[in-house]
Amino acid sequence: MFRFRLPFSVSVPPSVLRVVSALFLAVLAAGAPAAPSGARQPAKKTASAKRTKKTWKPAPAKKTAPSAGSSSSAFSSKYRSPRNKQRPLRKSTRFIILHTTEGAARGALEKLSANGECHYVVDEAGRIYTIIDRGRVAYHAGLSMWNGTTDLDGCSIGIEVVGYHDKEATAAQFTALRRLVGDLKRVYKVPDERVLTHSMVAYGNPNHWQKKKHRGRKRCGMLFATAAARRKIGLAGKPAFDPDLRAKRLADADPELTRILYGGATRAETGAPAARPSSGGTGAASGGSAAPAAGADQKFVIGPKRSAWDIARDRYNSRFTVYVYPNGTKKRGDEITSREWRAMPAGTVVQMADAASEESEKTSGGPLVVGEDGPAESLAGDDAVASTTFWFRPGGQWSAGSSLTLAQISALPKGTQVLVGYRNAGGVSSKRPLFAVCGTKWNKPDTYYLIRGKLVSGDGIDEKAVPRGTQVFVRKE
Ligand SMILES: [Zn+2]
Repeated sequence: MFRFRLPFSVSVPPSVLRVVSALFLAVLAAGAPAAPSGARQPAKKTASAKRTKKTWKPAPAKKTAPSAGSSSSAFSSKYRSPRNKQRPLRKSTRFIILHTTEGAARGALEKLSANGECHYVVDEAGRIYTIIDRGRVAYHAGLSMWNGTTDLDGCSIGIEVVGYHDKEATAAQFTALRRLVGDLKRVYKVPDERVLTHSMVAYGNPNHWQKKKHRGRKRCGMLFATAAARRKIGLAGKPAFDPDLRAKRLADADPELTRILYGGATRAETGAPAARPSSGGTGAASGGSAAPAAGADQKFVIGPKRSAWDIARDRYNSRFTVYVYPNGTKKRGDEITSREWRAMPAGTVVQMADAASEESEKTSGGPLVVGEDGPAESLAGDDAVASTTFWFRPGGQWSAGSSLTLAQISALPKGTQVLVGYRNAGGVSSKRPLFAVCGTKWNKPDTYYLIRGKLVSGDGIDEKAVPRGTQVFVRKE
């Protein structure tokens, strides 16, 4: 049976021991999901351990000292995600990834909580909200790669800072980040060089502008890569270069971003450009070479050296991005054809909504829609006819890109969806349940089920409600 070693000498009747051990095991079983995060916590009681105690369960067999209470109030669980329970435990924690919400606190908190898209949110006042338990997986990085490792959600913690990629965070946010990042670094033994920004790790699949997989899909969290910001967060080291660009695993679709991320403090902190209309020079980027008022708008005007991609990045073909042609014609990004992209006249003004949906991971491997996101031939770049690209007609009929011609792809109707960088894991049957088809990926948001002609995300899917014969598509890593 079980033998207990008590830290003190006392005689306990065997029956009591049995009850105690049964209780102990029951608590262990019930508390299992919380255990790994707790287990990673160093046993020694540091100030940080006290502060963050709310986010994990104390060891069940021991009485903990009463909480000091003072500092734990800095953490709010008001927006704790309802998705916590369905999120798997993270096997390792190698990276801490910093994001910017690109929108106001309220909307961001509601969306991030509802979708479980980060572990923490830091608002302008420095309040820290816990969204997903830090030992579990949060889906914050989307299509991501660092030094050849992909799918960083599985090995990282994501912190969303309320604000914008090109606007300096508040002093209160830096204070909160210093403490939060400091705690997490200690608990998970993450070196400074692996505290990264989302813009450092996000990459994009090919599209109309980028024929290859590329870095530069997002500028999220950009300024947290600068030396000044990192000093304020208490980070000494940072990566000197982008390992995936250097190894040519990715193409550089945003050289300006690359300079800001790795180009050294002077350059990065004086010339940060803006890809957002409302950036108006209030951020850290405003110091040096900020354009004069008359020139500010030029950032959003298409010219010989400034394409829609340069201005809008992965939002170039969004329905929230509007192009105003010199003759006054207005078109949404999703209405513009491949030919029109190539022939877009100089002087066209690009207007982008300052939407809270900026931080959407829709382009991270999820389906793009013909008509909504652009014409078919522009949605997958060189990968349009790849065997890892799948086209789904509105009725549910589907084909791999490799079985279609470019002409057939151009002729696909509006509403056709496309997944790039995927494999078909096969169909669900009575002999082949979900888990056998796609393993632990069955409930990932970027796993898709073709149910009644529609692609349904694995996030939140009811495993009992998947009809037999349903085809499953899993992101290829
Ligand atoms: Zn982000």
